[in-house]
Amino acid sequence: MQQYQVIVIGAGPAGYVCAIRCAQLGFKVACIDKWVNARGKPALGGTCLNVGCIPSKALLDSTHHVHFLRQHAGRHGLKISGLEVDIPTMQKRKDKVVQTLTRGVASLLKKNKVDVFAGAARFLGGQQVHVEQLEGTSQQLQGEHIVIASGSKPSTLPGISIDNEQVLDSTGALNLREVPERLGIIGAGVIGLEMGSVWNRLGSEVIILEALPEFLPAADHTVSKEAARILGKQGLDIRMNCRVEEVQVSGDKVAVSYSLNGAGQLLEVSKLVVAVGRMANTEDLDLDAANIETDQKGFIETDERWQTSAENIYAIGDVVGGAMLAHKGSEEGMALAEQLAGQHAHINYDAVPWVVYTWPEIAWVGKTEQQCKHDGISCRTGEFPFRALGRAHAMDDTDGLFKIVCEQENDRILGAHILGPNASELICEAVVAMESELCAEDLARMVHAHPSLSEGMHEAALATDRRAIHF
Ligand code: FAD
Ligand code: NAD
Repeated sequence: MQQYQVIVIGAGPAGYVCAIRCAQLGFKVACIDKWVNARGKPALGGTCLNVGCIPSKALLDSTHHVHFLRQHAGRHGLKISGLEVDIPTMQKRKDKVVQTLTRGVASLLKKNKVDVFAGAARFLGGQQVHVEQLEGTSQQLQGEHIVIASGSKPSTLPGISIDNEQVLDSTGALNLREVPERLGIIGAGVIGLEMGSVWNRLGSEVIILEALPEFLPAADHTVSKEAARILGKQGLDIRMNCRVEEVQVSGDKVAVSYSLNGAGQLLEVSKLVVAVGRMANTEDLDLDAANIETDQKGFIETDERWQTSAENIYAIGDVVGGAMLAHKGSEEGMALAEQLAGQHAHINYDAVPWVVYTWPEIAWVGKTEQQCKHDGISCRTGEFPFRALGRAHAMDDTDGLFKIVCEQENDRILGAHILGPNASELICEAVVAMESELCAEDLARMVHAHPSLSEGMHEAALATDRRAIHF
């Protein structure tokens, strides 16, 4: 039996980052992952690199260019004729990006002297793990500490089975080889909006059925209302308050029966994407063998130090639930490694940024104005539109707004909300401000480059004190 100080199960952004940080801190580390790519080869990087963040952003970037060339290039004086979209080449580029980055993870683990095992891990009891290796042999490992970072997988709805031919999960939606004429999506969450944007930009008629009455309820309402308006104008037909009752596949059509405000409706589409959330990946771990408890939804329960119900066994990333985001998992991986090395480790979960990579992008961190009201926190807000920024005009990209929420009494920044081009990059300033416990006045007094989109943060900070200059 091979002995390790730390065994990490899962090489997604939570697991591989934890393994590397543990190795940097001097531990002898093993990292086990069972992922196999479409060519039947082991691939590291988990959901994020293989079928999540990276391939979705590759397609969003490619199709953003298509949208620009079709809708905006003319205004820049660029006459494009005979534009052809070659989906197989677009998909090949996406696959290449994935391959480059998954190989990158393998070489980072190697460089840091982490022993990688390609195979499925399960608990044997105590501190022991059995690995069924992809090559057909098996191994048993013993670890002083074991970290579960086994991630998540797509959920579906009762009675709907995913065949990834006509009824797709997010992985199927990333791998389409042709543009569906009519694409139905169940769920107007992050995946529904991102995948809906990709195929809508390529010409699909996209209809999204959402159960909730309110669009993107986690975002600030000023931002979510404006985002719904802009995405609707782009062609996403987002229907709220829909209750999906039945899905039937017949021939090359998918029929979705649903009720809208109580009235029965029928939607016929060529492909259907089910994007209703994700669930914990624990089925082949044999958690019972190590007395590891899960909650009612199947996520592994931990305390604030990521310790499970079993001593010296920890869990991080999507498998523990909460914000199912790559960067949240990676931070947990680093913090846990440092904690195991006796260092002080802390994550400020209130300052984890969220980004929806539609265009305009939607990004936020911290509290919304509505949450402040709900929690009885007296707050002020400052808003500033992109259309008042010189740089946004130069870019011909003027949709959206900045909104800063700060505490009424002491001006401390509680949240920031951005709908606009490059919101994913711009939100970083707000994260730094919140982590540094800055006030809106601090941002208002910092020099921001002109012309830049970041001037919108500056102006929104000024606007919390009703002294924005350009609006
Ligand atoms: P995972 O990435 O799921 O990795 C878990 C790993 O554990 C897998 O490689 C799996 O093979 C392995 N594993 C599981 N069980 C075993 C076992 N028994 N033995 C061995 N190995 C095992 N997040 C963002 O922050 N930004 C985005 O833009 C973004 N876009 C996304 C787009 C899509 C389409 C999807 C589906 C998700 C997206 N996410 C995004 C979410 C992000 O991918 C996840 O939050 C992240 O991958 C979670 O990391 P993790 O390491 O916890 O788990
Ligand atoms: P989600 O939780 O973001 O959205 C699911 C949506 O489906 C919700 O709006 C929900 O109300 C709706 N829904 C649930 N049941 C329904 C039903 N029966 N009928 C109609 N609608 C229904 O989940 P997702 O979009 O599947 O994404 C999963 C997770 O992956 C996200 O929570 C996120 O953490 C992660 N992710 C992140 C990014 C990003 O950071 N840019 C991108 C993609 C995925």
